[in-house]
Amino acid sequence: MNELSGISASPGIAIGQAFLYVDDTPTIPRYKIDDTQVDAEFERFTVAVDKATAELGGLKQVSGTNEGNQLEMLESHLLLLSDPEFTASIESRLQKNRLNVEWVLYRFIQEQVEKLQRAEDQYLRERTSDIYDVAKRILNHLMFRQRISLSDLEQEVILVAHELMPSDAIGMNKRMVKGIALDAGGKTSHTAILARAFEIPAVLGLSRISQVVRTGDEIVVDGNRGRVITYPDDKTKKRYFRVQREWRKREVALMGLNELPAETRDGKLLSLKANIEVPEEVDALASHGADGVGLYRSEFLFLRGLGLPSEQQQYEAYSQVLTSLQDKPVTIRTLDLGGDKIAPVLGGFSEQNPILGWRAIRFCLSRVDLFKVQLRALLRASVYGDLRIMFPMISGVEELNRAYEILDEVKYDLRTEGVAIRQDIPVGIMIEVPSAAMTADILAHKVDFFSIGTNDLIQYTIAVDRGNEKIAYLYEPFHPGVLRLLKTVIESAHAVGIPVGMCGEMAGDPQATVILLGLGLDEYSMSSVGIPEVKRIIRSVTVSEAEELVGTVMEMRSYQEVDAFVADVMQKRFDVKVY
Ligand code: PEP
Ligand code: MG
Repeated sequence: MNELSGISASPGIAIGQAFLYVDDTPTIPRYKIDDTQVDAEFERFTVAVDKATAELGGLKQVSGTNEGNQLEMLESHLLLLSDPEFTASIESRLQKNRLNVEWVLYRFIQEQVEKLQRAEDQYLRERTSDIYDVAKRILNHLMFRQRISLSDLEQEVILVAHELMPSDAIGMNKRMVKGIALDAGGKTSHTAILARAFEIPAVLGLSRISQVVRTGDEIVVDGNRGRVITYPDDKTKKRYFRVQREWRKREVALMGLNELPAETRDGKLLSLKANIEVPEEVDALASHGADGVGLYRSEFLFLRGLGLPSEQQQYEAYSQVLTSLQDKPVTIRTLDLGGDKIAPVLGGFSEQNPILGWRAIRFCLSRVDLFKVQLRALLRASVYGDLRIMFPMISGVEELNRAYEILDEVKYDLRTEGVAIRQDIPVGIMIEVPSAAMTADILAHKVDFFSIGTNDLIQYTIAVDRGNEKIAYLYEPFHPGVLRLLKTVIESAHAVGIPVGMCGEMAGDPQATVILLGLGLDEYSMSSVGIPEVKRIIRSVTVSEAEELVGTVMEMRSYQEVDAFVADVMQKRFDVKVY
């Protein structure tokens, strides 16, 4: 038995068999061949294509329905495989370049994808992920790799990996993944956020779990304390089964608050909303008593790996969420791709500093074509409910002005086409870049609301990569620098009478609930699972008590001092468990 310590990323206990996931992006070999080997290389290629064709044929037979356009996709992949031009291109390149077939195929695919990305026609641009998928299938056969996809998991497992990209996590078979344990990642990485959204206990930043665990090993994931136990003995397992039962009991008891308002003892009503990544999560909202959606991370539609979602597909997803929320507010954030959210369909961005790079609103303002498609879908869906639109990563007024111009153009186009849209859609921005926080007084005049994205705001303020486990100790929500920025933002918003919410993970951290109340936050938005506990705390405090706490904390000089003081108060006065 061995206990490994990591970062508690998603609460709960999981006990089960490990499944060691190795990223299935192959490293492509490259070597020279001579004239005599060309035919043999081509033969290898045709054999691999035949195997891939047989594999797809089999999948088509078992897939039965056309759920999620599965059949259509398989058909289009089969067509690609049987395209004589494709085969002829590989053969002529083998003859010309005299390089091994894996490399020739890989380069050919890269070129096709680049061409498609420049195409005018949206349908063509959307085909890039299909091409990647087909290429991967052939490469796996060429390199004798077994293709394992997380969406194909058929047994309950605890997923163990070095790293898990959000695009992998979004596609996994969630019913079968009972726990997650990773070498890499931080508490606010998007994989951690997804684990919480799907209510899967997770421990990240374990450094070497993928080296010490094999598929089939029994392990325990303790998401509450951030521990993983390998080869647990009977006594340990018994103890964890008991903790698991108690944890669930506490969860069920908290759900008793679902119908009650998030109101302080002295009558201040707060709004507790949910963050969602996929429309399916709306079911969890009701069961956790959310007052609406405070952040819908729309970019996850682009990370599912089935091509760029069309305007119609986006419209359907947004309408579905708005309709199911029945007039409760739904804030949909426009595309926040980039950073750790790389859409396979866009071919990946290779940047030196992706976190400081071509992300979010910056990406949208230079890919106006994609941005407009999303805005059209949003505006068309607006008639189904109380939609609010939110722009991510705004760093100053210039970006905001440009985003408004594009929004106005899209509204104009839709009106000209006679399409009905809601007239009074509030527009807000995320405050997650320090320059925006420090100019919040200027920005506040231009928007209907602010939502503070502490995941990024903390990352940029302290210059600490939110996904890097090696420096996770620096990622401190209670750093005096962060607290001062939060105060500035909230005061600037209130000075012009606009509400200010928070949708970063800090909003769902019970340790921060009272501090945020004392700072004057109006709305908390978090993974649904966190709502009941935050509500319990809010219902047991008064505003003046919270303000007093903030007064003391703002005088402190280090996060260690704040952490220790707040943890003590939250435990003794509010019964917040410290694991
Ligand atoms: C944030 O940065 O706090 C936020 C909510 O956005 P994301 O986590 O998607 O970057
Ligand atoms: Mg962010």
